[in-house]
Amino acid sequence: MNLKSTALSGVLLAMIATSTQAETIYLTAARMIDTVAGKAVADPAVLITDDRITAVGAQTTLPAPAGARRIDLAGQTILPGLIDMHTHITSRADIGGYRALAITTPASAISGVANAWKTLQAGFTTLRNVGADGYADVALRDSINAGETAGPRLFVSGPAIGATGGHCDDNLLPASYHDTGEGVADGPDAIRRKIREVHKYGADVIKLCATGGVFSKGDSVGGQQLSLEELKAAVDEAHMLGLKVAAHAHGTAGINDALRAGVDTIEHASLADADSFALAKAKGLALDMDIYNDDYILAEGTKNGTLQESIDKERSIGRKQRETFRAAVRAGVTMAFGTDAGVYPHGDNGRQFAKMVEWGMTPILAIQASTVTAAHYLGSLGDGLGAIAPGKFADIIAVAGDPLADVSELERVKFVMKAGVVYRQDGRAVSR
Ligand SMILES: [Zn+2]
Repeated sequence: MNLKSTALSGVLLAMIATSTQAETIYLTAARMIDTVAGKAVADPAVLITDDRITAVGAQTTLPAPAGARRIDLAGQTILPGLIDMHTHITSRADIGGYRALAITTPASAISGVANAWKTLQAGFTTLRNVGADGYADVALRDSINAGETAGPRLFVSGPAIGATGGHCDDNLLPASYHDTGEGVADGPDAIRRKIREVHKYGADVIKLCATGGVFSKGDSVGGQQLSLEELKAAVDEAHMLGLKVAAHAHGTAGINDALRAGVDTIEHASLADADSFALAKAKGLALDMDIYNDDYILAEGTKNGTLQESIDKERSIGRKQRETFRAAVRAGVTMAFGTDAGVYPHGDNGRQFAKMVEWGMTPILAIQASTVTAAHYLGSLGDGLGAIAPGKFADIIAVAGDPLADVSELERVKFVMKAGVVYRQDGRAVSR
């Protein structure tokens, strides 16, 4: 062994030694949003060891331990990593309608890798992905968890489950093509079987299509598509397997039957009424209302190949959904933050905060919807998420200024840490 190789092996040994030692980070900022207490705290200090937060305090009472790596986010506000409860991470917003037929499962998985990075850079450290063909979202989740690619932590549904000819079927082609959506199931027994199947292939959560939708050809956006009996069977089966249920529902009857059946969150909720609000409150369920994307769909949809029928459906419910959101907030219904990313470009998720405030929510409630509230509706998957507190994952982001004064700061995230690893600093990506 020559001198050069001996020196090299010494360096390698030192690298191995440091990589196995616990690293402690001492992080300071001008302000912290305490999502549990619902207020801002001045001059916070956060101690992080490996992937977890170990202590949180004021800089005056929690000094830097000897040997800790220091990250000083001077002038910035830290918050827990954001959570989006409704994404389609493997979908592209710029390919709609018949053009989408040309997208293969491998192509969608590759798009997912790029989209996951963009979304992480935007400050979203956790996503609940609700609907992906070919289990592309399962593959992406596993790749991120294995450290093969960088992205938010993903909780995924695989194929969305719904009725023949419904929102979650493939309805673009005529009968001669025999094209059926992967999640199609009719009747309580078939739905139970389909839930067992997606669980078998790696789903963390169940996505149901309870009513028609904007992007599905040939259905009415408000029309109910799963019966109360089918919804009850789905919830019973999913909960038995320990899986939460997200139900896509625009129309009033479908929303209310899904709530009666006990789904965990209602997606879209466009035509929810006073009965829906009362049911949601009585049962402690949340609405995920994607009130940002209407602007994008109407402005860009036709260019992206979206069917005229879908544009017309969006026009018929987009504004109504925002009015329903305002009424639901006034009625005190719990809102979780879900955006339908993939319908609009990934990475723009944070634009929904300003819409939520414009339509009646306080900035702190909007931030809680995407942190502590979202974590709650993830059930046990949300343990360790949604707050900057000892024992939680070190998922921490920072913005300039005070997001409680200007919530649009969340569209310009400067710093992103996920599980103790920094992916963005000083407004620039840290490549991995
Ligand atoms: Zn969706």
